[in-house]
This record gives sequence, structure tokens and C-alpha cells, in this order.
Amino acid sequence: MTSLWHPFADMATTAGNEIVLIHGEGVWVTDDQGNRYLDGASSLWYANVGHGRTEIRDAVAAQMAELETFHIFGDFANPPALALGDRLAELSPLEDPKVLLNSGGGNSIETAVKLARLFHHVNGESQRRHLIHREHGYHGTHGIGTSILGMPYREEFGPLLSDTSQVAHDLIDALAAEIERIGPDQIAAFVFEPVIGSGGVYPPQPGYLVAAQELCRSHGILTIADVVIGGFGRLGTWFGVERFDLQPDLIVFAKGVTSGYLPLGGVVVSSSVAAPFWEQGATFMHGITYCGHATCCAAANANLDLLTRDGLVYRAAELEGWFHTALSTVADHPLVGEVRGGIGFMAAVELASDALAAHPNSAGLLWSEARAAGLLSRGLYTGIALAPPLTITESELEFADNALRRGLDATARRLA
Ligand code: PLP
Repeated sequence: MTSLWHPFADMATTAGNEIVLIHGEGVWVTDDQGNRYLDGASSLWYANVGHGRTEIRDAVAAQMAELETFHIFGDFANPPALALGDRLAELSPLEDPKVLLNSGGGNSIETAVKLARLFHHVNGESQRRHLIHREHGYHGTHGIGTSILGMPYREEFGPLLSDTSQVAHDLIDALAAEIERIGPDQIAAFVFEPVIGSGGVYPPQPGYLVAAQELCRSHGILTIADVVIGGFGRLGTWFGVERFDLQPDLIVFAKGVTSGYLPLGGVVVSSSVAAPFWEQGATFMHGITYCGHATCCAAANANLDLLTRDGLVYRAAELEGWFHTALSTVADHPLVGEVRGGIGFMAAVELASDALAAHPNSAGLLWSEARAAGLLSRGLYTGIALAPPLTITESELEFADNALRRGLDATARRLA
């Protein structure tokens, strides 16, 4: 038995039945029983450069040997944090942005939303508090992220932020109507994932995101792009938003910025949102202990080096057709309703509605049967998601495809 309480797990059945992973290399991970799995979801959408990269390990060890970390509150700094801030500003699609660092995606969502509200406050618009978010959206499990969750499991925690509203994920008219209903001058920000990830891999309708950005801008509503999954090559560019010609006011990132070697996230802030704080003396009274952690920043810098050196950041854009064509071969399986995706290395295999109706947990069955066939995926309510490391080769994708098909066949046998 274990005392370790796993997130998103039924501990009554999980305790004592853990899959204990002990080794990783490239797209492969191995458990303590010697089973090898293809990491089809980059762990939790973050192992963009793959596992076991000695370059990151060495950079981390070197920084640990020099100065493991020291906080960056007030006027303290350390070289890896300074370098990372400059690099991310340079790589982002925004002009002269500023960069806030954190330890993950959820706390960067908190940071971005608090900063958006504070920006309105210092501009004399303290009434702008409301947040609009999209159905299926996921922004982490902190207080604000839970308040703007576009999936179940929000209400049961009781009141969090009440001034939020959810809109359909793909209808610009629904967004316009909600802005009118709330009152444009009451709204602080619109928070969105360019391609919705954990909520089911929903790419945007053509033109939706640009139209949403224009609509928000015309009403003084800030746009917060959450590219925690979509960044650092997942969608084939540095910040994902470039694929849709977006210039958000704030960009929230995490995961792929270190490929998960150490925890790190942050917010790229446009120069106009930063201006009151960088030019007019306002202070953002916010920050977590480990923001700018020197060793985490060293891991991020080494990861950015790898993404650049190996051309990985653009690989998913170059090969997304190959990726989706390969996965779409399972679309003809009787259990499959739809294979969704098409942008970058992100896809969802959604089960057919009769399969979902036949068994309340048919998506869970598929997830475990694919795992038994050697493929680790990410469970969705209605299927599974795939988002492998950006390094995946043709033969590895073929392995994933075969394992997926075997998983579907085994699921069909169990449902029969
Ligand atoms: N935003 C998105 C789009 C995510 O997918 C996630 C995590 O999966 C988060 C935010 C939260 O990030 P973290 O788990 O690092 O707090």
C-alpha cells in the first residue's frame, strides 16, 4: 500500500496498483516490471523534446553546482532567469513584451488574470472584473483556473470566482452576445486555449480566434491566450498563437518550456499591459517563492537550445499532415466516432456515440487497453488524446498506430 494520493484518481482502486515508471529515453518509458511504453501524450503534454536528454540534465547539474537558486523578489536576480526572460520575450510574437516566471500553468493563469484585473484598476476601470472563457477549456486547478473551467467538477467546490461566464467554444456570435449581456465595460478578459487540449482537442473554427481578438479589443477586453499545452513546438511554433496570427495581450505558458525536466511556467505580457508597471510606478504585489528558480530556468534554457538546434519547434507544423493521416487510419474502426486535430502534434480519438452509450467508462477502457498494447495516451471523457514528443519517428508513429488499433479491438471485445 501507499500513502501517496494521486491527482484525478480513485484511490480506492489506485492504491497498490500504480504503474511505477523508472526509466525514460526518447519517446519511450519503462516501468518497474520491465514493460516498455510509447509515451503517446508526452506524459501530461509536456515532454516535447522527449525523455533522457543529457543536455538538459547536464545544464541542471551545472547550475546546481553553481547556485541552486535564490529568489527574484524585489531587485534580486540570477543569470538563468534573466537569460530566460530575454529569450522568451525575443521568441514571442509580441513587440517588446515583459516576462513573468512561475512554477507551472495553473499559477500562471492566476498571475495573468490578476494582472489583467489590476491593469484595468490602475487605468481607472476597477469595475472590469468579469472573465469570459470557453466550454471544454481547461486552465488548471487553482482557484481562478477552477472558476473558468469549461468542464465538470467546478460547482462541487462551492463559490470561487462568481463573475465568470462560459461561452460556446466556436461561435463568435455567442461571444458577442455574452459581451453585450454582461456589459462590455464590466469585462476584464477573455481566456482561451488556441487549440483546446485536455477538454478534447478542439482546433478553432477558421477565423474564430482572430474575430474574437478583434471583438475583445474593440471593447477594451484583454485577451489571455493559454498555450500551456500549445506552446514550444506542440502546434509547430514557439507560442502556438502564431499559427492563428494572434497578438494576445497576455500569453500563459508552462509544460513544453522545460519539456517537464523541471517545473516552470510564466506569462508573456504585452508592452501596453506592462506599461503602467514598467513606466508609471504601479507595482504588481504578486509572486511565488519559486518564480525565477535558477535551476528550473537553466533547464528551460537548455530545452530552448534543443528545440532550436534540432529544429523541433517547427517540426509539428511541417509534419502535422503525416501525423494526422497516420492516426486517421483508425477512423474506420467501428468503435471510433471521430479523429480530431489537424494542427500540430495533437489529436483526439473520440469513440462512437453508441460505444459511449454502451458503457459509462468506454473511454477509460480504451485508455487501459491501449496501455496494455504499449501506448500511453491521455484520457478524455469521450476518448483519448495523443500528443507525442516532437521527436517521434515514422516507425514509432507506426507502433503507436498499431497499439491504438489493438487497444480499440480489445475494447470492442470487452464491450461486446
Ligand atoms: N492550462 C492548460 C491549457 C493546461 O492544459 C494546464 C494543465 O494541463 C494548465 C493550464 C495547468 O497547468 P499546471 O498543471 O502546470 O498547473
